[in-house]
Amino acid sequence: MIAGMKKQVVAQGSSLSSPIERIRGVRRIDRTTASLATSDLAREINRDIVLEFIRFNQPVSRVNLARLSGLQPSTISAIVDSLLQEGWVKEGEIVRGSRGRPSTMVSISDDVAIFAIDLRPDRAIVAVIDLTGRLLAQETVPVGARPETAVKRLLLCIGRLRERFAAMRFEGVGISVPGRVDPATQRILMAPNLKWHNYDLKGALEEKLKLQVELDNDANACLASELWHGSLDGIGSAVLVAVGEGVGASIFSGGQLVYGFNGLAGEIGHVPIDPEGPRCGCGQRGCWEVFASSRTALERYRKMAPEEEIADIEELLTRAREGDKAAVKVLADQATALGRGLRLITAVLAPELILIAGELTSVWPMIEGRVRKELAARMLAGKPPRLTPAGDARSARLSGAAAILLHRHTYFHRSTHDGKALPAREASMAPRQ
Ligand SMILES: [Zn+2]
Repeated sequence: MIAGMKKQVVAQGSSLSSPIERIRGVRRIDRTTASLATSDLAREINRDIVLEFIRFNQPVSRVNLARLSGLQPSTISAIVDSLLQEGWVKEGEIVRGSRGRPSTMVSISDDVAIFAIDLRPDRAIVAVIDLTGRLLAQETVPVGARPETAVKRLLLCIGRLRERFAAMRFEGVGISVPGRVDPATQRILMAPNLKWHNYDLKGALEEKLKLQVELDNDANACLASELWHGSLDGIGSAVLVAVGEGVGASIFSGGQLVYGFNGLAGEIGHVPIDPEGPRCGCGQRGCWEVFASSRTALERYRKMAPEEEIADIEELLTRAREGDKAAVKVLADQATALGRGLRLITAVLAPELILIAGELTSVWPMIEGRVRKELAARMLAGKPPRLTPAGDARSARLSGAAAILLHRHTYFHRSTHDGKALPAREASMAPRQ
């Protein structure tokens, strides 16, 4: 993610704070990969910053964009012209300012969209999302153990949506996956609850759709959604814990998501905390996930109240809200297990903020105290991190998937149809020989 990078560049050009104040600790120049900042790169970064200012302040005039960004009016004009040409923004009404000079307001184009897919173990939600993050349509398709069948259904669904929104330009497909993705090949590396091992979902969809497809883990998608909507502005480090069928985390540090060298960073749900514990979907015993996931809460409820028919996690949460004793008890146990695991995260990463995502957040007031108490117990020193529920996980996975498509591989909001996009970035980022 590029949010932190933008922020730094803005900070350097404005009075927000000096780079010295912002950069604490150790920053390394790696001589094997270092490349000098070219004027092309500076232009690309400024262009992306301006697009973000438009997104968050629209409709906005060029004069105000210059004021907000600290860039020269002539630079703003050049950037806005190129954004208009590429179709990312549009011009709207003409407004007279206090000094009488008319300005044309600029806003984000509303005829560009992304297909966002929230892939789950049993179904996929396919949505059309525009550049401002608005959800324009969504459909659900069943998926199962066979990825080939799922791909056929996804293609049919996307085909239908493409016809329905025939006037829109689709930039690509972003997919939130209940597992981890190889950063180099984009293959699904592991998805214990989905069981599509080493499957090339990106390749299968791209071949038929002729659109760029980007995949990422569901916890990363939820965090990307928070970044896209600006709710982590000013936060230096955060961990989002997605609680659902399993438990996974997304790590945000130094202005970017942390993937690890193999894409598996954040798999804290599969750290065994009890070697004698129940078997986990990953094959080990006693992973944090088998104590803290909502699937476990549901299984426990079924054992505690075998006479009660219960369909899913949503129903369990409804029953807890209605005061069903067994439901309240299993959620309390889940909250305790969750809070204890958060101590691991705090000890290793000491984030400023921990976000909890998942259906469970709908009963947050019922469980918050218990999670917080477990998290705060036996802190080594200082205060525990701030703890809050993330936005609605269902829509977060979709808008995060869209954000990942826009940000991740094109790096900047570059059209995926723009032949110049990738080479320009590669040229500016490539190590010099
Ligand atoms: Zn496991």
